[in-house]
Amino acid sequence: MSERSPRVSLGFFPTPLEPLSRLSNALQGPNIWIKRDDQTGLACGGNKTRKLEFLMADAIAQGSDTVITAGAAQSNHCRQTAAAAAKLGLHCHLLLGGTAPSDITGNLLLDSLFNAQIHWAGTDRKGEALHDLQHQLQAQDLKPYLVPYGGSNPIGAQGFVAAIAELKSQLDSLKVELDAIIVASSSGGTQAGMAAGLRQQGIDCQLIGISIDKDEGSTAYEESLAALASDALQESFLPSDFTVDRSYLGDGYGVVGTAEREAIALLARTEGILVDPVYSGRAFAGMLDLINRGAFAHARNILFWHTGGTPAIFAYGAQLL
Ligand SMILES: *Cc1c(COP(=O)(O)O)cnc(C)c1O
Repeated sequence: MSERSPRVSLGFFPTPLEPLSRLSNALQGPNIWIKRDDQTGLACGGNKTRKLEFLMADAIAQGSDTVITAGAAQSNHCRQTAAAAAKLGLHCHLLLGGTAPSDITGNLLLDSLFNAQIHWAGTDRKGEALHDLQHQLQAQDLKPYLVPYGGSNPIGAQGFVAAIAELKSQLDSLKVELDAIIVASSSGGTQAGMAAGLRQQGIDCQLIGISIDKDEGSTAYEESLAALASDALQESFLPSDFTVDRSYLGDGYGVVGTAEREAIALLARTEGILVDPVYSGRAFAGMLDLINRGAFAHARNILFWHTGGTPAIFAYGAQLL
């Protein structure tokens, strides 16, 4: 991969970098900043816009007429891929975990508005059958481009290498130095791309991925992060270069617990900002707990990277109250 990887414009950049002043005062900890990737544009925003600028450019370069990808029923990645396909005049097929629900809401509602064709995958929600779907569509004379689960491959990760360059110029003009960045981490392209970007920009700051979804355990996830970052930057990364905190998995992927509910309410009430029940709310809850436990006792500035996901709020409804 190189910086000259083809890119299409799909979002609004740079996203705002803001201080969470009221929250920082209330917690009496470090200054907390927020990077507003919930405002990347492309159908309610989110981190996948950054990956899709590179992935969709590759799809177009390969002459594809269709994109396919996979995720959970409330996948933000699928919703943003569907929107990107609509904007670029491509067909979109989505392979979603579960079976067709009776209530069409949140991201799933938006998928249909963007005219994506939905295939229900039963117990699989990570695109286990994406290749089968690709072959089926090829048999129908379509040219499907396979966007991997979460958009996490070295092409998608380029979006977050670029995101750190964007952050660098914002930090430089504010004259702020960060001690730590906290971000939700799940399929890995975000955290891996950021790690590559931080090294590329020479930014010396801790990067903490809050694990959102149970993984294979041991260091398999860190190994995949290292492989992605190495490929994205053409430099060697080791699994030990990555910090993944698995303390906040609660009752599993997409299950809202007290921690998420309280974190969502706290940020909403003190700053008027929404985080989502699955990813950014869980990561935010993790950051609050780390602050309470003194993990940033010597830090001056920490950054919460908001990765979006807000349409999922509507699928959870009163569970969030
Ligand atoms: C996909 C997603 C993430 C995780 O990003 P990865 O690159 O898959 O690790 C975090 N937050 C939101 C809202 C997402 O949709």
